[in-house]
Amino acid sequence: MGTLFKNGTVVTASDMVRADVLVEGEIISLIGQNIDAASHEVVDCSGKYLMPGGIDVHTHLELSFGGTVSNDDFDTGHMAMAFGGTTSHIDFVIQPIGGSLHDGLAEWRAKSTDKAQIDYGFHMAVTDLRDEVMAEIPSLLDEGITSLKLFMAYKNVYQIDDTTLFKAMQVAADNGMIVMVHAENGDVEAELTPRLLAEGKTDPKYHASSRPPEIEGEATNRAVVMSGLTNCPLYVVHMTCEPAIEALRRGRALGYPVMGETCVQYFFLTVDEHLAAPGFEGAKYVCSPPIRSTHDHGVLWQAIKDGTLQHVSTDHCNFWFEGGRGPWQEWAKAHNNKGWVEFEAQDPTYRRPGKELGQGNFAKIPNGMPGVEDRLMVMWEHGVNSGRIDPTRFVELTSTNPAKIFGMYPKKGTLAVGSDADIAVWDPDKEHVLSVETTHMRTDYSVYEGMPIKGKPIQVYLRGKKIVDGDNWLGSNGSGQYVPRQAHAPIL
Ligand SMILES: [Zn+2]
Repeated sequence: MGTLFKNGTVVTASDMVRADVLVEGEIISLIGQNIDAASHEVVDCSGKYLMPGGIDVHTHLELSFGGTVSNDDFDTGHMAMAFGGTTSHIDFVIQPIGGSLHDGLAEWRAKSTDKAQIDYGFHMAVTDLRDEVMAEIPSLLDEGITSLKLFMAYKNVYQIDDTTLFKAMQVAADNGMIVMVHAENGDVEAELTPRLLAEGKTDPKYHASSRPPEIEGEATNRAVVMSGLTNCPLYVVHMTCEPAIEALRRGRALGYPVMGETCVQYFFLTVDEHLAAPGFEGAKYVCSPPIRSTHDHGVLWQAIKDGTLQHVSTDHCNFWFEGGRGPWQEWAKAHNNKGWVEFEAQDPTYRRPGKELGQGNFAKIPNGMPGVEDRLMVMWEHGVNSGRIDPTRFVELTSTNPAKIFGMYPKKGTLAVGSDADIAVWDPDKEHVLSVETTHMRTDYSVYEGMPIKGKPIQVYLRGKKIVDGDNWLGSNGSGQYVPRQAHAPIL
């Protein structure tokens, strides 16, 4: 006996068709017209869209950052993603400085295996590229890791020099892997930040002054050129502004194997309205690269329409706006800045440190914001409902393309016979207002507070098992699976 989704409209990256979908076990076994209900459990999908579960390839769950740890972990983060229609994501393993890539991987496996409620993969963020680490890279393929993340920013912490970037791209190209870069010129940022602080410019808005669009454009161009020279597939993460998009567009016009993503927040938030909000409010919106201007919003919408960008992710990495409540210093010391879920479970008023760490110094504000639950609803409302993209392009940008680029297709990223039955039953008429009051993310604010949307997932299935039913959570810890990925993925 299987599950038969009847009378819905199946949306893939290429088509929208009225069809029934039969799921047997964990996979889709048949798509067709008027499939016999036989002994199957029938889900009536009249008036609904059936879409492949969303994929978000840019998340940071339980990430140690600047003296604290990001709020959502592989428990709450997964539940929030699923309520938003996302059923798979790729998180960034961070190589510990001085350690090996496999040390980092062991740490992320420990964070995820027992908690996971949806499916997930790992990118490897390489932070300390010594010769023996360079030699370790090809062995990641045995772990199903096909993507390396390198930082052109965060000087004296994670930043690598051009020689190292160039060598790493050669190793990646030789092994069918893809290189992802955080593209900002960290040398320039490292000059600007202390200068601003010395001038007394410590408010959150000066975070944007320390990381102007030009340094993102310059670094993007440098990575694009190296991709062209090495023929290494390149994926530029969290692109925000015109100089960066122009560099990517030029590389693609030259036939280089270069691709890119932006994140939902970069379509909506501005320095003037959000980062420069009164008081310390702007800290909520501090992320790197920074949010930009309405002009850049238009550039990004154009880039997803014309195919310059391939994916819209979140860079989800959320911290309390008003954190640091209760005896957190004692806990941090006794538990080595770990175990914050247990700390907060002791008393509902307790909170790990958060954005307030950067009071009086924008450079100490933990970078990042919540977004995994909101991503698809916001993109549907402002992409599809507003007429900027159609539902097939929506599916392509939020599920199919990332599955292809990162070697998970067609197991993930589409509705096809033989694919995993990761299905979002989408009600295009369902209205909702995004708010911290209704979110499942572990957060005390929403960057989309009060935003009305029309169209949301009402049921979500992970490999054939229903995990979201309206407001009810049916998933369970440990039921999410690690997805090993294939090398030599296509360039889109
Ligand atoms: Zn990130």
